[in-house]
Amino acid sequence: MTKPHLRDLTKSELESLILSWKVPRYRADQILQWIYQKNAMAVEDMQNLPHELHALLNQKTDLNRLTLISMMQSANGESIKFLTKTPDGHLCETVLITQQKRRTVCISTQLGCRIRCIFCASGKGKFGRNLTAGEMMEQISMVSSKVKAPITNVVFMGMGEPLDNYDQTMKALEILQAKWGFALSARRITVSTSGITPKILSFVKTTGGRVRLSVSLHSAINETRSYLVPINKKYGLAELTRTLDAVHQKLKRDITFEYTLIEGVNDSMQQAEQTAKLSSRLKAKVNIIPYNPIREMDFKTPSPERIKAFQSILEKRGIRVMVRQTAGRDIDAACGQLRLKRD
Ligand code: SAH
Repeated sequence: MTKPHLRDLTKSELESLILSWKVPRYRADQILQWIYQKNAMAVEDMQNLPHELHALLNQKTDLNRLTLISMMQSANGESIKFLTKTPDGHLCETVLITQQKRRTVCISTQLGCRIRCIFCASGKGKFGRNLTAGEMMEQISMVSSKVKAPITNVVFMGMGEPLDNYDQTMKALEILQAKWGFALSARRITVSTSGITPKILSFVKTTGGRVRLSVSLHSAINETRSYLVPINKKYGLAELTRTLDAVHQKLKRDITFEYTLIEGVNDSMQQAEQTAKLSSRLKAKVNIIPYNPIREMDFKTPSPERIKAFQSILEKRGIRVMVRQTAGRDIDAACGQLRLKRD
């Protein structure tokens, strides 16, 4: 039988586990504090625990499951890509983005991706598997311990579709926000989705609309969106709009659209107008991500003038727009460049 991963357990699950070893309940609080507040990366670091408990934890549980293979820093020093290996031999990628006082960890939720957006490297190879909540949490702790600094923001925007791994993503969100866990405020957490509408509704309900929601739009025209994001054939724009209308009523904060801008594909003025219309209806903010090249596709990044023109149309319609810098492109750590197999 495989051992439980400590980072997979909620407080009550950890309590039941240690009670079954006849260890008093309050030890669970201490263990959780070491893991999430003091970022202990080894059981022996948990100094106020008796040696017998160290031994039990080592014998019966795993604190860590990911092995760090490499760390690569971008030329401007802003992003670091962490490549790790899971016990079953998959590669996992996590990115740290440092901007002023903000340290954001971009975590993977799956090894590979089943959505297979045409311009994204994560969906190119064979799908590996879902990551567990504990493996998601471990990515954050591992990054924090390597850079010896606390993490201020977490985005579920690495490899995989978080809402296609719904239960584990929700569990990770619980541990991230729990007082006994990372105690991170919901407004510092963003979940990004390609638009699995039924799951968007449950996600918003369960999180009380407090965790930020980002939707990868890429086109407000059905035909183009279905070409770019195949799941649009199942949950089309009309359905997505209906869902986001409902979400908009419930959310305390606004939705963000991600829009990967690709030359000659979705960067026309007509595309901009349609995007403006939809965003205005939903009071959504738009993050433009200039396409980051991947080797499978010969798509091109639009010129700065073209990006500016697209942006201006949205701005003229009163939409808040950000052009996301392409941090980490040189180390293949930018949006859409994370992939399962490196060869
Ligand atoms: N599956 C989720 C999480 C991935 S987030 C989602 O689709 O939202 C990563 C973001 O980067 C998404 O908006 C994705 O569409 C975008 N992206 C993917 N490939 C890209 C590329 N080659 N260039 C720029 N952005 C890309």
